[in-house]
Amino acid sequence: MKKGLEKFYDLVEAFEALPSIGKKSALRLAYHILMNDNYLGIKIAHSIENALKSIKKCQECGCMSEHEICEICLDDSRNAQILCLVQSAKDIFVIEESKQFKGKYFVLEELEQESLSLLLSYVENNKVNDILFALTPSLSNDAFILFIEDKLQSFDISFTKIAQGVPTGVSLENVDILSLAKAIQSKVLI
Ligand SMILES: [Zn+2]
Repeated sequence: MKKGLEKFYDLVEAFEALPSIGKKSALRLAYHILMNDNYLGIKIAHSIENALKSIKKCQECGCMSEHEICEICLDDSRNAQILCLVQSAKDIFVIEESKQFKGKYFVLEELEQESLSLLLSYVENNKVNDILFALTPSLSNDAFILFIEDKLQSFDISFTKIAQGVPTGVSLENVDILSLAKAIQSKVLI
């Protein structure tokens, strides 16, 4: 079956490489684009190309942005002294959707020296006095929080983390907005 349809199966493989797309869905998507909706296929190809060219990491917070500095970092109506620390830029979208947070964000994917130095200078430059950890609850993330607290102990900062409503081990993107909103409202001191 695959012989003579190599390009079709290349496309199926490309779709299958995406998160949460299985073999059946990949086949369905490739078939749909090639046989039912060529225009949609071209549109998707263009969108992907454009997005890849123009989206980068914000130099200050690590969020996705079309410019060097993202809209959230540039927004003066937000309180830069309150910082929400996340482990993935996509978590920011979820928290923004909950409309419960009016500070700024910082994406710390890993505990490596370069990101830690960026965090330290962010805290210093913006006189951050409140850090909210919005992490997936887990033992390793508790250790992550302790490590950050230790690194920032010379600053006068109150540390909080999002509270009930976020189940242990479930990543933020899979938590419903209402639960997340509650978790931010009832953040706890640590
Ligand atoms: Zn930013």
